[in-house]
Amino acid sequence: MFEVIKTEGKARRGVFQCAHGTVQTPVFMNVGTQAAIKGGVSALDLKEIGCQIELSNTYHLHVRPGDDTVRALGGLHKFMRWDGPILTDSGGFQVFSLAKLRQIREEGVTFASHVDGRRIFMGPEESMRIQSNLGSDIAMAFDECVENPARYEYAKASVERTTRWLERCIQEHQRLNALPDTVNPHQQLFGINQGCTYKDLRIHHMQQIARLDCDGYAIGGLAVGEPTEVMYEILDAVEPYAPWEKPRYLMGVGTPSNIIEGVARGVDFFDCVMPARNARHGKLYTWKGAINLKNEKYRLDESPIDPECDCPVCRVFSRAYLRHLMKAEEVLALRLCVIHNLYFYNKLMQRIRDALDAGVFAQFRAEYSGMLDKRI
Ligand SMILES: [Zn+2]
Repeated sequence: MFEVIKTEGKARRGVFQCAHGTVQTPVFMNVGTQAAIKGGVSALDLKEIGCQIELSNTYHLHVRPGDDTVRALGGLHKFMRWDGPILTDSGGFQVFSLAKLRQIREEGVTFASHVDGRRIFMGPEESMRIQSNLGSDIAMAFDECVENPARYEYAKASVERTTRWLERCIQEHQRLNALPDTVNPHQQLFGINQGCTYKDLRIHHMQQIARLDCDGYAIGGLAVGEPTEVMYEILDAVEPYAPWEKPRYLMGVGTPSNIIEGVARGVDFFDCVMPARNARHGKLYTWKGAINLKNEKYRLDESPIDPECDCPVCRVFSRAYLRHLMKAEEVLALRLCVIHNLYFYNKLMQRIRDALDAGVFAQFRAEYSGMLDKRI
């Protein structure tokens, strides 16, 4: 299912196979939380912007329209008209960050929906059933996302429970995949490493879940407010214990520089709402650094967002026009800016893969890691 075809230091160039196609890694997954990219971007656009794999959200789709509705309509691929690979997160992160009045027990979590306050119970089995109904290519294990910072004793107990939850996820996932009417019987399952910023907990947990032979391994609970250097230290500590032959996914990360540094530390998959969210606020990425489109200096600027970019937006529209749309609060401003930023992220991954193929990733990292996060 996954093959590392080239390495440079710890960085890996790989190929990942799943039911809806082949993914070249390192890869950035484009986040369509509710089966749409926020900013008016549809599955039709994803092809245009070089998206290889789309990410949708278990919690959101369970609350609305309901995973049984999506299943009745043929699964998420058919529902949103995206025929490429899809990863669904487990709902864990949203249950612990978004839902109100939650109560955690060994069986799972009871919480109130952020939409209508309805009481919902979700545990490992429920998360697997929802993701099976959605029919994604990759399902994520249900884990507890502990608030950062957390006390050591709490983090330790939580990590142990997350391991027990993973064992239950694996059992239920195998049962669901074997059912005759399963939407996607080839769905894969990734386990998630937790342990806050405690290196010994992180390593111990990765050693435990590595034995459970998941299809891939994610590192969760990072980029939640800790300093970037701490995140890199955790990655450096955990990486040697992540199974080498399986894909590694750093959840919710990050800036262009974070991604380049993640690749350098052996990560294959990334996802983040940041490029789309920044685009909606006028922060746009270029190959020289990020610009703020709302700035007065772009009022009469007829050049594209980035002269080096060949995205559908930069081929046609000027900074002056896009700045006007943003100031006038036209919906089109959001759509065009999101398309540019996601195209930029997908292109960044393409350039990282090209650099790895050519054996010049170290030079690419030295040139771009610092520059791309700068504001110009
Ligand atoms: Zn562009």
